[in-house]
Amino acid sequence: MIKRIFSLFLLVLVGLALYAVVIKSMDLFSPTEEFIYGLNTAIVKPVTYLDEADSRQLPMDSNTIAFYSVHQDTSMLERIFKTAGLPYRRCKNLDEIGAAPILFLDLSMNEPVILSNKERKLLYTFVANGGVLVGNEVLATRYGALKGLFGYRGYTPTKQHRQLLLTHSPYYLFLDQTEERHYRLSGTERAPYSNSIHVGTAEVIATYEDEKAAITLNHYQEGEAILLGVSLFDLRYRNLFGKDYNANRQYANGYEPLSDMIVFLMQGIYARKLGTSIMLNTAKGANHATVVVTHDVDYEHSMKNIEEFVSLEEEQSFKSTYTIQTKYLKDYKDVPFFKNSTIHYILDAQEKGFEIASHTVLHTENFFTLPQGDCNESYPHYKPFSESALKDSGEPTLCGELKVSKALLLGSGIKEVVSFRSGHLYYNPRLPQVMEQLGYRYSSCFSAEDVLSYFPYRYVYDYKTLSHESKIWELPLTYEDEAFPPLYFRVDDALTLFQKLYRHGGVFTLLVHPDLSYTRLKNLDLDFQRSFIDQLPNDVWIDTMGAVGEYWDQRDRIVFRYNITTDKVILELYSAVAVQGLSFKLRGLTLKEDQANIEVKDDLFVLNVEKGMNHWELERY
Ligand SMILES: [Zn+2]
Repeated sequence: MIKRIFSLFLLVLVGLALYAVVIKSMDLFSPTEEFIYGLNTAIVKPVTYLDEADSRQLPMDSNTIAFYSVHQDTSMLERIFKTAGLPYRRCKNLDEIGAAPILFLDLSMNEPVILSNKERKLLYTFVANGGVLVGNEVLATRYGALKGLFGYRGYTPTKQHRQLLLTHSPYYLFLDQTEERHYRLSGTERAPYSNSIHVGTAEVIATYEDEKAAITLNHYQEGEAILLGVSLFDLRYRNLFGKDYNANRQYANGYEPLSDMIVFLMQGIYARKLGTSIMLNTAKGANHATVVVTHDVDYEHSMKNIEEFVSLEEEQSFKSTYTIQTKYLKDYKDVPFFKNSTIHYILDAQEKGFEIASHTVLHTENFFTLPQGDCNESYPHYKPFSESALKDSGEPTLCGELKVSKALLLGSGIKEVVSFRSGHLYYNPRLPQVMEQLGYRYSSCFSAEDVLSYFPYRYVYDYKTLSHESKIWELPLTYEDEAFPPLYFRVDDALTLFQKLYRHGGVFTLLVHPDLSYTRLKNLDLDFQRSFIDQLPNDVWIDTMGAVGEYWDQRDRIVFRYNITTDKVILELYSAVAVQGLSFKLRGLTLKEDQANIEVKDDLFVLNVEKGMNHWELERY
């Protein structure tokens, strides 16, 4: 037996050696060029971005969440309501709360707020009359003005807490998976600021690992006041830009929804408080979730493999995005493969409706620290190359990576290049500025597990304060092919993760490098993809980064209010742009299916809306 195993081992060894010799000699017979000259380029032009919609476009009513913030820029806070699909309105003064059922109060721990007597009274009255108040950074409010309302006696700030554990609350309606209850706040020596709440009359609905109170709920007369002991900055904002303290337990392919927790909590509060209600759906049309398939073409033989992936995807009736490294210079990492003889592969894909996007020129590990450049970089003068895995030369710049790759793709006949992915999924603090300057719209430079979110969001101009959203959308990468074991053995694993996102209408962004190499069994990736896509539910929207990004961009410009009567849903909607297939979710009611101009399917209804004001009266059962 041992002898047989040994002979088998020898045989495999000889086979591998022969294989290596053949590969090496093939290289010798077909030497590749050092630098590809003669490529065409085209001018990179800026694009126009959609106008923003203002939550104050429509008045307050009894189905709308009010929020009040002491911060001037509230785009990151509004992102929470937008992602959740909840109608909301910013109140510039607390006396604008009106009939709102829920108020989100966004104060500051750094600059403790002094509330006027009138403001204090308004808040107490709001809750006393049955409102639900959610407080972020309110613990330091001067003179303990809100202690009685939130039912706390005091607090202790620390940088010690590493876990957040949700216990029980009816508001945890959409937080029922283990991963949605147990979060890690830090996986490093350091941890973010958190406050242990000294509970008075409130009940504890989340704790830290030391059992101290992290989130509390106080019943005050007819209403309730929920107090966050960890700020949104530490629960969400910092994570979205990779500035968390290693809060994710895994880098990719797992479920780590810390940044989405507040989104699900607000949805739960809304659904529970209102009962019968509608929310904006996350997916387009009559779909419950979204899948984006992406392929990074960043290896010598990948260009020609585009054909095989395109043909599989045509067979499965969906379009994907091919991000192309326009590599025209030989270096430590690879030979040049973006050349006139390989361009037809991407032109064919474009012809069939697939998206072609940029995957840089250099594919550098140093993307985060690249200098911005001046965006006058151009082919063939721009000559960045890698001397080793980590060392680059030839003055690579952020502008150069994005501009030169786009100019080459356009020059080769690609009509539009609006999507981007960096090499190795790196961000750069100046990325939003440069993307806007060069007419990009959508990006996928973070892993979902790293940012702890499964929904698209917008980059911010200010990397330091994490404020002021830019026009650029990030579609975090959910599942990738570089982990072990090979994708072929991970169909069920990918589907399990997909199911978790599906429950919330998440966007599952998949990366499959089309290199089809035998070394890591990547030649079986096509089988993985076929099987994975085949097993998805029917109500999943599968499309390109460009198409999905565009929908999120349009959805972001919707302001809506509604009123439910015994026989109707009356919907008032402002949109800064015409949108096809805008979709809403119903809770606790059904609509008649045979109505003109709308599609009703299960708990969803779908509309085409016009730019400006829209008025709909939909019949109920
Ligand atoms: Zn790559």
